[in-house]
Amino acid sequence: MATLDEVLRANTREGELYEKLDGKRVRCLACGHRCPIPDGALGVCKVRFNDGGALKVPWGYVAGAQCDPIEKKPFFHVRPGAMAFSFGMLGCDLHCSYCQNWVTSQALRDSEAVSSPMRATPERLIRMAVDQHAEAVVSTYNEPLITSEWAVAIFKEARAAGLLTAYVSNGNGTPEVLEYLRPWLDLCKVDLKSFDDRHYRKLGGRLQPILDTIRSLHDMGVWVEIVTLLVPGFNDSEEELTRLAEFIAAISPEMPWHVTAFHRDYRMVDPRDTAVADLLRAAGIGRRSGLRYVYAGNLPGMVGELENTKCAGCGETVVERLGYRILKYRLDGEGRCPACAAPIPGRWPGSGRPRISSHPFSPRYQRA
Ligand code: SF4
Repeated sequence: MATLDEVLRANTREGELYEKLDGKRVRCLACGHRCPIPDGALGVCKVRFNDGGALKVPWGYVAGAQCDPIEKKPFFHVRPGAMAFSFGMLGCDLHCSYCQNWVTSQALRDSEAVSSPMRATPERLIRMAVDQHAEAVVSTYNEPLITSEWAVAIFKEARAAGLLTAYVSNGNGTPEVLEYLRPWLDLCKVDLKSFDDRHYRKLGGRLQPILDTIRSLHDMGVWVEIVTLLVPGFNDSEEELTRLAEFIAAISPEMPWHVTAFHRDYRMVDPRDTAVADLLRAAGIGRRSGLRYVYAGNLPGMVGELENTKCAGCGETVVERLGYRILKYRLDGEGRCPACAAPIPGRWPGSGRPRISSHPFSPRYQRA
């Protein structure tokens, strides 16, 4: 029986995000590692490799594909209640010890992470997305930057079908990969895991490429929402969270920031789980730093108003949530507050497709 490594090596094609160096070496440009790769060797992510002076990249498979609520990604300012058709491949360029998607992200590094690839075509995936009434197609579950050629092939089909396109990414990008994605990417959730370069190095990356990516995505007009998984004792000091929130606010005070609760997972089992009080404290820091849309995630029903979207102008609740469920949706067709008509930033349903608050989204509910 073929090993996972052999199966993945068969599901590749020559990439576009690389440059040739001397002596059959190549430099991959898909993520911030910018790996120089000798002939026959793998990059840090273990899914892109040099085959005789050409960079081979993942192609033609998914490790998982399903519809999720768009709130799960999380996007809170994009078509609340919409289905997001989500697909993932294998591998990651970081190795976070608390990864909550480790079965797919660490499949090539960790023999306990078992995840089987399934053959796929962009056309078939988008047909599935349309059949399931999805409004967005999301590359997620593993790090999408390292499989960007495949994501763009799918996003081209998605755009032709009128769907939004999205990444759920660690943000370890390069100018080259962002330029490559620019025509095809509508939305990006970026994990800003810490504001300390020493912490990022423990996870296998560096802070600066992530900061550059967030700024560039915003400048490119991609809708960006930031997530910080709050790990007690790792990234939750007052000073670090303040610098992190001030960084986001300096790019745009309207960029949503989600602080989410950690639970012990994978190889990080020492810190305690994040408590409600930790999320409330972090959210307060976000507000004081000038952020207008701060959310607390992973503890549904326990964080009061921090699951809801409120108008930054008058304080009116315009979207009410419980976990991934939309309980009320009150924006008008142009995405404006019903009380004061202030525009709420985001990608809202068009005027022809208002949400009906008496039919809140739940995973079992399917629009006709
Ligand atoms: S995607 Fe990143 S880790 Fe993988 S080969 Fe390219 S530069 Fe290296």
